[in-house]
Amino acid sequence: MKRLQARLGEISDLEQVLSLLHWDQNTMMPAGGGRARAAQLATLARVRHERLTAAETGELIAAAEAELGELAEDGVERRTVAEARRLYDKEARIPAELAEQMARAASEGYQLWVGARAENDFRAYAPALERNIELAREYAGCFDGYADPYDVLLDDYAPGMTSVQVGALFADLRGELVPLIDTLAGRELDTAVLSARYPEAGQRALVAKVLSWQGFEGRAWRLDDTVHPFATGISVADVRLTTRYEPDYFPTALYGAMHECGHGLYHAGIAPGLERTPLGAIRSYAFNESQSRLWENLVGRSLSFCRALAPELERCSQGSLAGLDPMALFRAVNAVRRSLIRIEADETTYGLHVILRYELERLLLHGELAVAQLPEAWNLRMREYLGVEVPRDADGVMQDVHWSAGSIGYFPSYAIGNLIAAQLWERIRADLPELDEQLARHELVPLRDWLREHIYRHGSRLSDDELLTRITGEPLSVAPFMRYLRAKLSDVYQLDLA
Ligand code: ZN
Repeated sequence: MKRLQARLGEISDLEQVLSLLHWDQNTMMPAGGGRARAAQLATLARVRHERLTAAETGELIAAAEAELGELAEDGVERRTVAEARRLYDKEARIPAELAEQMARAASEGYQLWVGARAENDFRAYAPALERNIELAREYAGCFDGYADPYDVLLDDYAPGMTSVQVGALFADLRGELVPLIDTLAGRELDTAVLSARYPEAGQRALVAKVLSWQGFEGRAWRLDDTVHPFATGISVADVRLTTRYEPDYFPTALYGAMHECGHGLYHAGIAPGLERTPLGAIRSYAFNESQSRLWENLVGRSLSFCRALAPELERCSQGSLAGLDPMALFRAVNAVRRSLIRIEADETTYGLHVILRYELERLLLHGELAVAQLPEAWNLRMREYLGVEVPRDADGVMQDVHWSAGSIGYFPSYAIGNLIAAQLWERIRADLPELDEQLARHELVPLRDWLREHIYRHGSRLSDDELLTRITGEPLSVAPFMRYLRAKLSDVYQLDLA
């Protein structure tokens, strides 16, 4: 066990260095560093892969399994060994050559996508997408014991989830959202406050204030500018957030920062004893996304928090938001709009953007849809689900980076994260009866402490299913999310949508 822990510690160190190189590449690195950085990342990723899949690692895992004896089923030791076993078994099945081909195709696909998207040229991008799908199929083919090849990919982002589960959740969600959006999207709502001119210095002050409310503490955190915001935890005491500033749309920076801080708090809250073990990283993208969305939407877009936010927004706006009414802010940040672009979509339409991508990537993987037919299939669903006409592929099928970089199976995590967050929220509200008053006074510490106690500190010790069932007593379902959304939209639109 001791020798295994030492080896797992080294693997964890390598993963943290990889994160640091990625962070630097996307924030500080001068463009000229790109070529050398690609080589550094590739080398280090290979070293990590070799360490993890070495015969000696397999022997150490087997020996540790034999040592576990009567230790608790969900205790740290047993779960550390089990997670090491899961990662080892998964990674050892991928031939090094395939891993390298996938890495290269992802990097080439990304670069091709950047150019093709700028030129609105789907045909130029199609061969790269075909290549990524072919490799994804080959990757899925390395595993047996999965009912559907898509489940292999899904498991990399939402461990343990299957397309049977996701398909059932998404069918429910689509059935609820489509008529709700039909009812609301055409209604007049004043959103002028969102596009008021907001000086960048003021936005920076606003973001700093809100992050400090969330628990951003100088010694363990950094915030930097980037083009595509993200958060990364290098260690529990070294969390890096990023955001970007739009002069005529303050929600980009503010809600983006609250979202990334949600990821950061999760990482910073992992029990220090799990550091340098496989449990000290957050393996589930779905659960990780539930935590960012919880802060961004359930806190950030609530009426209570808008009461705390409005005076601060006004104070930092240098006059452009004088007399801002919290109710007007609340209504504006929750307006339902038929949206073309996923990352700009409101909380209500967002799920349909994800469902559409999930359906299409499964068809592509199964060979039931050819890449050449993809734009047409995309546009048809956009019309059917969201009532939106797609003017050009750059703003349609080519809007997201994921498929170009070989990330197939990733999208469902976003919508599942929303469902998890809403289900947790009902429990949180019951446990923290003063929550509304606390949010209105920007007292976020009780909420953060609840999340730390029930979620953050566990790292990856418990599966998504275990965590959610322990906290809420129920498996994941769509109902809490719809209850939450209908209640909120009833207030926003002053209608009875229950
Ligand atoms: Zn996120």
